[in-house]
Amino acid sequence: MSPPTTTRVPIEAGYFTIPDDPQEAPRLLGSRCRSCGEHFFPRRAICAKCLHRGTDDVELGPSGTLYTWTYVHVPMFGKLDAEAEGYGVGQVDLPEGPRVQAILSGGPEDFEIGMPMRLDLEKLRENKQGEDVVIFRFRPDASPAEPGAQRGEAERSPGASPAQPGAQRGAAERSPSTRGGAA
Ligand SMILES: [Zn+2]
Repeated sequence: MSPPTTTRVPIEAGYFTIPDDPQEAPRLLGSRCRSCGEHFFPRRAICAKCLHRGTDDVELGPSGTLYTWTYVHVPMFGKLDAEAEGYGVGQVDLPEGPRVQAILSGGPEDFEIGMPMRLDLEKLRENKQGEDVVIFRFRPDASPAEPGAQRGEAERSPGASPAQPGAQRGAAERSPSTRGGAA
């Protein structure tokens, strides 16, 4: 909970919005191809699908679906006021299409593949001007707003989780209930 008087600045410009109202969800800064309509994050000038030159800037999110996740048992790099012993990392599918890798908010017991996620911001540290330097992250969404977004393919997530150094935790906390049959 940061007081509304504190100015928030992105750790790097060009990736996400920072609403004036802290209660408002940020959005990711993406691109949409003018030819085929494919969405991308982060932004790009040339479409990776049809190679058309020319994209429009669009805002993506703030909701998504957890495709896979892992938990890193070391303090988050660059977070100076951290007392947490680790952090989640996940890949979140946006309804617009892109799959975004991001920090997750919560403990290892909080995540389940296929669950709705919501974008928000986390303060990493304070800069010399007294502003909060923030990153974007996803947290489990307590109020799912998109009943249509179901993706079954997430089940067979690779045991060796992609691109997360040092993280060994199995990507799939198998829930024995509804989904399954992966045996
Ligand atoms: Zn295209």
